[in-house]
Amino acid sequence: MNVLSVASEIYPLIKTGGLADVVGALPLALDEHGVRTRTLIPGYPAVMRAVRDASPCLHYDDLLDHAATILEARHEGLDLLILDAPSLFDRAGGPYLDTDGQDYGDNWRRFAALSRAGADIALGRIEAWRPDLVHVHDWQTGLLPAYLRYSGKPAPPSLMTIHNIAFQGRYGVDIFPHLGLPPDAYSIEGIEYWGGIGYLKAGVQAAAAVSTVSPTYAEEILTGEFGLGMEGVLASRAGNLHGIVNGIDADVWNPERDPLIKANYSTANLKNRGKNKRAVAERFGLEQEDGPLFCVVSRLTGQKGMDLLAECVGDLVPQGGRLAVLGSGEAWLEDAFRHAAAQHPGRVAIITGYDEPLSHLMQAGSDAILIPSRFEPCGLTQLYGLRYGCIPVVARTGGLNDTIIDANPAALAAKVATGISFAPTTNDGLRRALRRTFRLYADQKAWLAMQKQGMKSDVSWNKSAGVYAALYTRLTTKGR
Ligand code: ADP
Repeated sequence: MNVLSVASEIYPLIKTGGLADVVGALPLALDEHGVRTRTLIPGYPAVMRAVRDASPCLHYDDLLDHAATILEARHEGLDLLILDAPSLFDRAGGPYLDTDGQDYGDNWRRFAALSRAGADIALGRIEAWRPDLVHVHDWQTGLLPAYLRYSGKPAPPSLMTIHNIAFQGRYGVDIFPHLGLPPDAYSIEGIEYWGGIGYLKAGVQAAAAVSTVSPTYAEEILTGEFGLGMEGVLASRAGNLHGIVNGIDADVWNPERDPLIKANYSTANLKNRGKNKRAVAERFGLEQEDGPLFCVVSRLTGQKGMDLLAECVGDLVPQGGRLAVLGSGEAWLEDAFRHAAAQHPGRVAIITGYDEPLSHLMQAGSDAILIPSRFEPCGLTQLYGLRYGCIPVVARTGGLNDTIIDANPAALAAKVATGISFAPTTNDGLRRALRRTFRLYADQKAWLAMQKQGMKSDVSWNKSAGVYAALYTRLTTKGR
């Protein structure tokens, strides 16, 4: 089966979050299920620099008023199609934000162009290759299924995956004339959304099926609290809404061979974690001692519950904990952790920014990773935590609920616990979870058993890739 995957980020070329990891890892995992994936991504500077020997396969004089070329290339096992449109994507900032952290004013056009190009490929515009199915990811590609539906041509089915419903791609109706869609596309059955235009909504409406990245999140987004305006549209698609939990690249994230950590280790012998723990403390300027070392590797946002954690630092330190935070995000949250670090020197520290190698060392050396998210579609850092024996302390929501077995007495007795989970996601909830974590840490035998149990969990793509492959097959054979 040939699949065209379309996304705005892909690891290892360009990444702002878990979306990139999934888009980069899934094609390799699907290969074993007989699925051949080509992935269409924008030609950002980082992509154009990294990719060698790209060759043109389709040229546009006018793709939403911009010149563009689609290039074919291979990169680290990935079969890529790159939308090279310098006036849209060759910019100094990130994929979505300019150097001042503001959304590019023409994001609607940039990602409509990506979707339009994807739709053209799906309709057979590239010679000698036509996908059997199109898999689109998040709002940036939401228009693609709509372009297919309104093309009036026979088109392959599409699957729309929602990685985070908080980002919906909402714009005013004034952009409609520029999208190249027929007038009837601006309707409730089309791309209209609360009086404007919704890219994610368009995809949910037009795709053959919709999926999200965990079974719990698939249920949560049907409610007003989590659906954020999309719950009604999703309810109308509920029969075709699937929750498939993400995996991780178990080769990139492998404590036995990871070159980015100080000392490798395996379930058979966790002693070397101590060396990594010392390296983390050193890197963050924290005191060297035996008490539990907590870490955070995250966007610093309200979604991630980082305000709750900042408020709980005063509880964590007196109990003997240390905290290392790696992240960037909302300025007031960065300030809150800087303030906590100033109040508790040697016990709390923050490194702001994005540092992939350091994130590996932190998973390998910290005792626990804190993830108090208010909502979490899947979450990847708890999966890395499981693989590295870094106990996840998580809010019981979304994918965190589906991947972590709470260390309640029954789970401990059955030796199946892999972490600590709490609800509701409040200050008090997190405080209680921290107290439980300290108690468990004091019982080093139970702690070690939990680490080993987590390291044994299958967090690879094996199972979920099979579920995606089965869904693809169902969608492509439907109606035949
Ligand atoms: P989200 O996609 O909502 O940000 P996920 O847990 O799904 O959250 O994925 C986040 C990914 O980004 C993980 O791979 C995590 O390790 C990585 N990450 C987040 N912040 C940082 C950072 N400051 N430095 C390095 N990696 C980070």
